[in-house]
Amino acid sequence: MIADRLDTLAAVCDTYLPSVEAPAGEPAAFYARSASDLGIPGRITVDTATRDLLDALEEQGFTAATLAERTALLRRWALHGPHTRTVNDLRATVLGAGYSVPDADGRNPNWPDIGYPGPVTAPPPTAHLIETIEPAGDPVRLAADVCVVGSGAGGSVIAAELAARGRSVLVIEAGRQWSEADFRQLEHDMPGMYLRGGQFAAEDGTIGLLAGSALGGGTVINSMVCLDPPAGVRAAWASDHGLTDVPTAAFDAHLDAVRTRLNVNTERTVVAPAAEPMVDGLDKLGLDWEMIARNCSDDDDPAFCGFCNAGCQQGAKQSTTRTYLLDAARDGARFLLHTTVERVRVQNGAAAGVIGTMTRPDGSTARVVVDAPEVVLAAGGIETPAVLLRSGIGGPAAGKHLRLHPAYFVNGVYDREIHAWSGQIQTVVSFAFQGSVADAGFLVEHVTLSPKAWAAQLDWTDGAAHKREMRKLSRVAPWHGVAHDHGSGEVALGPDGTAVVRWRLADPVDREVATRAHVELARLHRAAGAEEIYTFHSPELRWRSGEDFEAYLGALANAEHEGVPASAHQLGSARMGDDPTTSVADTYGQLHDVRGVWIGDAAAMPTSPAVNPMITTMALARRTAYAMAGETGSS
Ligand SMILES: Cc1cc2nc3c(=O)[nH]c(=O)nc-3n(C[C@H](O)[C@H](O)[C@H](O)COP(=O)(O)OP(=O)(O)OC[C@H]3O[C@@H](n4cnc5c(N)ncnc54)[C@H](O)[C@@H]3O)c2cc1C
Repeated sequence: MIADRLDTLAAVCDTYLPSVEAPAGEPAAFYARSASDLGIPGRITVDTATRDLLDALEEQGFTAATLAERTALLRRWALHGPHTRTVNDLRATVLGAGYSVPDADGRNPNWPDIGYPGPVTAPPPTAHLIETIEPAGDPVRLAADVCVVGSGAGGSVIAAELAARGRSVLVIEAGRQWSEADFRQLEHDMPGMYLRGGQFAAEDGTIGLLAGSALGGGTVINSMVCLDPPAGVRAAWASDHGLTDVPTAAFDAHLDAVRTRLNVNTERTVVAPAAEPMVDGLDKLGLDWEMIARNCSDDDDPAFCGFCNAGCQQGAKQSTTRTYLLDAARDGARFLLHTTVERVRVQNGAAAGVIGTMTRPDGSTARVVVDAPEVVLAAGGIETPAVLLRSGIGGPAAGKHLRLHPAYFVNGVYDREIHAWSGQIQTVVSFAFQGSVADAGFLVEHVTLSPKAWAAQLDWTDGAAHKREMRKLSRVAPWHGVAHDHGSGEVALGPDGTAVVRWRLADPVDREVATRAHVELARLHRAAGAEEIYTFHSPELRWRSGEDFEAYLGALANAEHEGVPASAHQLGSARMGDDPTTSVADTYGQLHDVRGVWIGDAAAMPTSPAVNPMITTMALARRTAYAMAGETGSS
């Protein structure tokens, strides 16, 4: 980058995270510490959009301007103008880095001043790894009875079930393998475990998207919530989509088997600090709640749990790397990592294998050509439809009907330390608002408080105000309403052939759910005694003790909620059903238009399961594996 752009970038970073004078009684070093002091400008990747932004800023004399002038300009451009997206992305990157990038001692200098403990234990020295293959040559040619694309919740179950039946199984995974020895309890490490390096936006920035990408997929980094799909959803999947066995004992058996293998239990669940005020609020408003069942080992200890979304160092999380993928490896499955499948090979209307690209440790790449009469697409709700679309298969429904479970965050600031980054990530759920708007609604759940994510998402009016807000973080209880969608979005291909997610908060029922989620969560925080309540709207919507609460609820009800939510659940984009015009696969997961290609992941769900989707995905995958094996039973 040319020198003056580097200066402009540093000026931008030091506007978001400036050196300012501390208010009376506040820690001077914290307020004085700038982005440059933390080495952040040198960590920013300058892409074309950022370069254009920096040039445009310099045309306004940005570097020579005062802090107040720079602040006003960035604030204005965050709300209006051609660079809005880039400005907001850059702000999130800089502020997220300011509270997560470790120094030479492995700790971020800002942590002590926001009360964040940082890592509490070092990783164990020994890595317990699943053996993988590293074939030489270019192209690499491999053959298998079954090629499973993606090793997450769905793919791992199918790999294990078919390997157990003696099939030769090849699992291809785009991500790398992580073990307990790699988990440093640092948010800074998370990009390597997530699709596209962490949260990324749908087209037009309408919703943030988060998905795992590693051997084990989302199960390595997810929050271990294990909720059964409700009876109403199961009945609708039978009556409206032809999955007639799903409401019956046959599907119960699939769910039971998954729960048993993952050691799903409530015995080890301990109400987390972020959940304590939530329980209080729910009780005061007379609303029901339950302890969440989690897939953890019997020695799970909440003392180590706050880092769960960056992997479980203790190995207590029963991800598929500790369960189904181990089973598959034991039964002879092979694992090819760092390999992205581009398309399915089809011959005479039937699966013939896949084609992909492997990246070697030295950065070189090789073509991968797999011969396989059966292919299972289990690359997740965003990437599975992209593989179908690149392959020109799957029919008119490929990529359509995408459900995202938009999650709406409402945060409460309390008069006491909460330390919402500690304890088990999710421990309590309320179903009080499930089905509360038409056949949609939302679950009330608390989440862990990530300094990186909150620094990135807090409304930013100026650098000093943002620092004051970060100083309150230890008193914040973060909750979200996880909506189950009534409308849907779509996965399409961008000009370079990669997946683009299109989603709008357009469905009237979904808009009403978004409003209700904000309003009801605000009511709960108020009942629990919060001093302040705020959202992630921009500009934020905040209530402070003493202000008119009904007026605040009115503001929440009238707000535009598109652009506010995040999605960790991507579902239904290559769904099963009995109608080839509205579904991609038949009722057991085999494509309507290509024999031997199966959908084995969350993309296969006919609609939203109305609960966190992991174990539903796994039970459906087990059901598909049974169909692939020619067994319709389920024991
Ligand atoms: C932060 C977070 C927390 C969550 N918490 C919970 C929770 O507590 N409870 C719950 O029920 N759900 C939770 N979820 C959701 C849950 O983890 C997912 O719904 C589930 O993992 C989806 O399973 P899947 O098989 O569809 O895909 P994934 O588990 O996402 O696996 C897909 C895999 O495919 C790989 N892949 C993608 N494209 C390709 C390609 N072209 N070639 C090869 N490989 C490819 C990816 O790298 C990935 O590893 C959470 C998700 C996130 C992100």
